[in-house]
Amino acid sequence: MLNDLLGAFQALPLPAQLAVVFCFAALMGSFLNVVIYRLPIMMERDWQAQARDILALPAVEQEVFTLTLPRSRCRDCGRTVRALENIPIISYIVMGGKCRGCGARISWFYPLVELLTAVLATFVFWHFGANAQGFFALFFVFTLIALTGIDLKTQFLPDIITLPLMWAGIILSFWHIYLPLETAVIGALVGYLSLWLVATLFKVLFKKEGMGLGDA
Ligand SMILES: [Zn+2]
Repeated sequence: MLNDLLGAFQALPLPAQLAVVFCFAALMGSFLNVVIYRLPIMMERDWQAQARDILALPAVEQEVFTLTLPRSRCRDCGRTVRALENIPIISYIVMGGKCRGCGARISWFYPLVELLTAVLATFVFWHFGANAQGFFALFFVFTLIALTGIDLKTQFLPDIITLPLMWAGIILSFWHIYLPLETAVIGALVGYLSLWLVATLFKVLFKKEGMGLGDA
């Protein structure tokens, strides 16, 4: 089944392949919007629960909140977003950037993330092709978009995304997918040390935190 699909995909001319990648990546962008919006809220709830636990305060009952639940809804009127209103990029244009229920403006950030994901993924696929390098490069693009979005909105860089990303880079270098192992480990070290240096200098000079270590 998967092989058939893959075979059919590879039989397509390049422009059609790029179009397929663009559409899939736009859907992925839609999911990244969910991650960017929900993951920081989930983390904050988690910290609060832990803090209450440490302070021996009773836990508070809260509505279930995960990446998939509750379903996406308008932040003004609470109207659930229907499947047809959830088509990447297109729905935003068709609805004029407004909620169908109450007419509240929907942030242009959502279609921008979808478009950016689609364009970058198409470029990466065109550059690397349908192989292991291309596959992992797409994975990195998606992860970096999620991180950038979360950083812009909340200035967090969740360890749950950054650390696996670094390890994935190092592990991939085992198979020389992009770089030899030594280069990857040196890259991680230089990355950490230089950012740690900037953060520490900032702290000494301005006597406050200018940077979190998530950046490293
Ligand atoms: Zn609404």
